Amino acid sequence: MWTDTHCHLDAAEFDADRDAVVSAARSAGVSRIVIPAVARENFATVRALAHRVEGAVYALGIHPLYTPQARDDDLDALRREIEASFADPRFIGIGEIGLDYFVPGPDDARQQHFYDAQLKLAREFDLPAICHVRKSQDQVLKGLRRNGVHRGIAHAFNGSFQQARAFIDHGMHLGFGGNVTFERALQIRRLAEQLPLEAIVMETDAPDIAPAWLYRERNTPDQVPRIGAVLAGLRGLAPEELALGTTANAAAALPRLALSSA
Ligand SMILES: [Zn+2]
Repeated sequence: MWTDTHCHLDAAEFDADRDAVVSAARSAGVSRIVIPAVARENFATVRALAHRVEGAVYALGIHPLYTPQARDDDLDALRREIEASFADPRFIGIGEIGLDYFVPGPDDARQQHFYDAQLKLAREFDLPAICHVRKSQDQVLKGLRRNGVHRGIAHAFNGSFQQARAFIDHGMHLGFGGNVTFERALQIRRLAEQLPLEAIVMETDAPDIAPAWLYRERNTPDQVPRIGAVLAGLRGLAPEELALGTTANAAAALPRLALSSA
């Protein structure tokens, strides 16, 4: 069995055929799907979806690229939603939060404000954080350190070995997906090949970050096994070994996964 630790199943790209996408993932052996929120507007949607889809779970948070539209009282709403979801076995953590210095636009101070406030909530409720890290590896880690958040996933990780080590030493797991399937993605492939297996979790970021064979098309969670086969090949592992290992790693990164069944 495989776990997709990052899938935006609520995205409009899946409106026409969401049920088919889910059953294709299930038939492909993807028995767990983590659906992170991106803004207050989709908190209720990801929760409802995680309850409707077998094996799915959800996280609540405000994505850095949604901070320009976010309001301060969205943080109060997030706190209330966390409290309301705390007894829900399908609620697994805070996300998607983080910092994005690649996309021009969002103000840094504003991104940092929302990131920091949400890390404080992660700390207060002892929940893992699912982090968006884009050209912001050092700053995202600094936030985790500053707020004492030691568990979660740096998703679509694309940093140096030194930065990867620093995240792992801090207690974080690193998410790998479609990017490892591109032969020219030398650095990501080296990381996927050489980092300790215990540090790696699988993800799609569907509908984004499509693998090489779906270049510029919609990505879907049923791609995890094929992406995993590429990663397993890089490491000289059998795909089943990688499936088992990375699913166990996902449970370590997101302990509340154990509360609900696949
Ligand atoms: Zn995402």
